[in-house]
Amino acid sequence: MTLEAPTTKRRGRVLVVDDSPATLASLCELLYEDHEVIFATSGQEAIDMAHSHNPDLILLDVVMPEMDGFEVCSRLKSSPGTIDIPVVFITSMGDDVDHLQGLNVGAIDYIEKPISPEVVRVRVKNHIQMKHKQDTLRGLTLRDGLTGIANRRRFDEALREEWSRAARSQSRLSLIMIDIDHFKLFNDTYGHPEGDVCLARLGETLAQIAADTMGFAGRYGGEEFCLLLPNTAVDRAMEIGEKVRAAVQDIAMPHATSSYQTVTVSVGVACAKPNDTQRSGDLIEAADAALYAAKHRGRNAVVEHGFVRLTDGAVALAG
Ligand SMILES: [Mg+2]
Repeated sequence: MTLEAPTTKRRGRVLVVDDSPATLASLCELLYEDHEVIFATSGQEAIDMAHSHNPDLILLDVVMPEMDGFEVCSRLKSSPGTIDIPVVFITSMGDDVDHLQGLNVGAIDYIEKPISPEVVRVRVKNHIQMKHKQDTLRGLTLRDGLTGIANRRRFDEALREEWSRAARSQSRLSLIMIDIDHFKLFNDTYGHPEGDVCLARLGETLAQIAADTMGFAGRYGGEEFCLLLPNTAVDRAMEIGEKVRAAVQDIAMPHATSSYQTVTVSVGVACAKPNDTQRSGDLIEAADAALYAAKHRGRNAVVEHGFVRLTDGAVALAG
């Protein structure tokens, strides 16, 4: 359920949760001109909507049948998908026990009933501003400054997420590791500023290929990059690996000290159907081993990790 003022620029999405239609209506009325407002009338609905709509702020009633506000807040704060959404409790006037308990389960603030419209408006505005700043900062800590794609930390997170998703859905997950050939020689020949340009161009190329293939591109470290491909079997991953190799060669960045005369990359490809006996680190090791084999084969090459192929086209990581 969404209420949105058609002509107002969206300034944050607020989820309002209350089992009383009257309170819900007055809060929505108060906020919808300045924000996108969505609402829920029960604890379970609130949790579902927090996951599906990713609001910037939740205004949460304490007293509700079945699941009360404290329980809802605890659950939101224990789930990685909703832990960062600020929660403000709507509590009864003068009830210090409620206020304390609310803050103890992870709420950022509380507003007392009966609500004062101006207080609600200002507090909501302030909390949303803070949330936006926090989102910006978080974005910066997870992005590689030079190339603009995900950094190692964000990539590790994405790998863990996709690994468990693939294990749950019994689907395949492929990983491509990419390394610039003779990058040290490149830096020695052209200098580090040109080296940075080269890294940035590769980041750009990978971001484009990731967008085209529903993949996730990251800088693994130094001149090593990675492309994570959910729901992708090994044959398709090999095609994408070849696309990466060809795209880099097509940029035709001069590299006089390489036998190819232009900047090239070596590419290692691995694919797994995750299960309980494997770790996501196994997939990295496998793709790295394939990358090493590509270097060994003379560079500017794409190599698949030589696992045992299963009949359904996946490969056994431990094979
Ligand atoms: Mg209530």
